[in-house]
Amino acid sequence: MRFDVLTLFPDMMRAVLEESILGRAAEKGILEFSYTNIRDYAQNKHKKVDDYAYGGGTGLVMAPQPIVSAHESIPKRGRSLTVYLSPQGKVLSQQLAKELAAYDQLILLCGHYEGVDERAIEEVVDLEVSIGDYVLTGGEIPAMALIDCVARMVDGVLPNSDAYSNDSHYNGLLEYPQYTRPPEFRGKAVPEILLSGHHANIQKWQRKQSLYRTWKKRPDMLRRADLEEADKAYLALYKGKKRNRGGFLDG
Ligand code: SAM
Repeated sequence: MRFDVLTLFPDMMRAVLEESILGRAAEKGILEFSYTNIRDYAQNKHKKVDDYAYGGGTGLVMAPQPIVSAHESIPKRGRSLTVYLSPQGKVLSQQLAKELAAYDQLILLCGHYEGVDERAIEEVVDLEVSIGDYVLTGGEIPAMALIDCVARMVDGVLPNSDAYSNDSHYNGLLEYPQYTRPPEFRGKAVPEILLSGHHANIQKWQRKQSLYRTWKKRPDMLRRADLEEADKAYLALYKGKKRNRGGFLDG
């Protein structure tokens, strides 16, 4: 999968995307990252990319010409989608990231300052995506968050699909708690069942923990989750035994 980033600050992206899991996937050719500096496409003497807003206001607005020319310079590949990172966009979720992972190429436009001239958006953008209901100074961090979330679901980036499909949000629940060695730390033992080697019982315990955590931390998610009859039965049991949390989780 290829990610093309249109930005005024390509070095900000390199530092993050060329390290660790994503960096290794790029070395293997599973992912491709390309950064286009919008400033290189400004057709004016001083390579100016922004200007004052018509109608007044304090900030500068990114001009349409350099953005559209930079976008036109990018070779399009297979199923390609152009996304503008914007606080006005559809809020990024695991479900949206799954849909984006099905594309061959994502072209990501990062705004800065007061944002981007509306005509550039109309000209090149297919979808606006926000990373949450707050405002950052630029689209680079949102673009990195989107790339990271999408790229880890591309085949071959993680060892197998279990590595992301058990994570929080993938199936509408939060993940169960995780433990590693030592078996005891500061008097706190790893739950015995995890050391039992009994896979079926471990899976059952993990599912219950997942349901319990989601109920405790994000009850709004439970209302939307696709629950099996057994899950509903555990939850009903739990709600009936609120004062006996251990009983619910161990049984
Ligand atoms: N004036 C714009 C508005 O109120 O909608 C906000 C501009 S913001 C200061 C500058 C740039 O940061 C935006 O063009 C966008 O690319 C990026 N940005 C800021 N917050 C974001 C968010 N929550 N999600 C995605 N991108 C964001």
